[in-house]
Amino acid sequence: MARQSIDTAAVHAGEPEPRINGAVEMPIFQSANYLHEGTDDYFATRYVRLNNSPNHHVLHAKLATLEHAEAALVTASGMAAISTALFSVLAAGDHLLMVDCPYGGTRSFVTEELARFGIESTFIDGNDPARWEAVRRPRTRAIYVESITNPLMTVPDLVAVVDFARRHGLVSLIDNTIATPVNFRPAEHGFDLSLHSATKYLNGHSDVAAGAIIGRAALIETAARMLSHFGGCLDPHACFLLQRGLKTLPLRVRRQSASALALAEMLDAHPAVAAVHYPGLRSTPGHAYAREVYEGFGGMLSFELVGGVPAAERLVERLTIALHAASLGGTETLIVRPSVTAYASVAPEERRRLGVTDGLLRLSVGIEDPGELADDLRQGLDAVASTAA
Ligand code: PLP
Repeated sequence: MARQSIDTAAVHAGEPEPRINGAVEMPIFQSANYLHEGTDDYFATRYVRLNNSPNHHVLHAKLATLEHAEAALVTASGMAAISTALFSVLAAGDHLLMVDCPYGGTRSFVTEELARFGIESTFIDGNDPARWEAVRRPRTRAIYVESITNPLMTVPDLVAVVDFARRHGLVSLIDNTIATPVNFRPAEHGFDLSLHSATKYLNGHSDVAAGAIIGRAALIETAARMLSHFGGCLDPHACFLLQRGLKTLPLRVRRQSASALALAEMLDAHPAVAAVHYPGLRSTPGHAYAREVYEGFGGMLSFELVGGVPAAERLVERLTIALHAASLGGTETLIVRPSVTAYASVAPEERRRLGVTDGLLRLSVGIEDPGELADDLRQGLDAVASTAA
């Protein structure tokens, strides 16, 4: 049978056939352990920490199908996916290349935790591959990027990343949280492992913490063993919620991507706005690649106001639809300043060097009416501009 579209796969892929007791929706198997089945393989024992309940199996199959990958593993959060994946491909003495402006939690995991275990890392400009060779070391084992970086929304040179990894025998990892499999499927482009904060778009309703590692079966098997030691498994009830959220992923993400593009263009033309970062705009690094390869530019954008921090704070107060909250990818529009949330632990000089200014605002566009979102943002910007005048 021909490969299903992502819309059909989101609903049907991985679901049990025949349905369990005829239930159209996957029941929740809220059991920590299962009867012994005569196996002497510890990892074949059915136990919730080993992530192998019926709810896990269904989710793993659905996630692998959505990214056209060999296998998938769910975890207790996005950071559980990222830390488990990195620990499973790196050992003491190894070296990691990482895009220089990743999600703040990933950055501090690498600088504060991996470093304590003797794993060194070098941050690289994802759009300047000519300089990667100079920082590669004999013990460089992996290269890590984000398909759309958080919070500056750049798209690294992903062709160069995969090519560099192949030439030097590195494991290529990509955080695909913001692009989502609707807009980009890393396995199709040669990435070894794709990582997600499923807390964001995959679940999509801001009511679950979860993560996923998707990619090559052999690497997923190693990660699953590592996860069983770290203990970061996903509870069956959270599995159920994530699976339910996944069914509407394509609908939500297409709507959010279309709305975000319209808002980015509106912001770009407004006199109160100094800069807009969005892969759908020519001015954002990686736009040409994203336009050629991505199916949409995603639902996240960030921008700076002419009036800096005071103007940013006034705008947040004036908005009537967007909620002032961290995180992203839910049904509701959220606005936040990354300098006081995910990037708060990065030294101010380093933050500024990376382009994460104190006044930078990040917008996670929800599924509300696009016209009403635009009107609300416009009235807020107009008010900010008139106070400044
Ligand atoms: N990756 C990205 C791009 C994120 O934005 C986040 C959280 O904001 C994470 C990973 C970490 O995910 P979690 O909060 O589910 O651990």
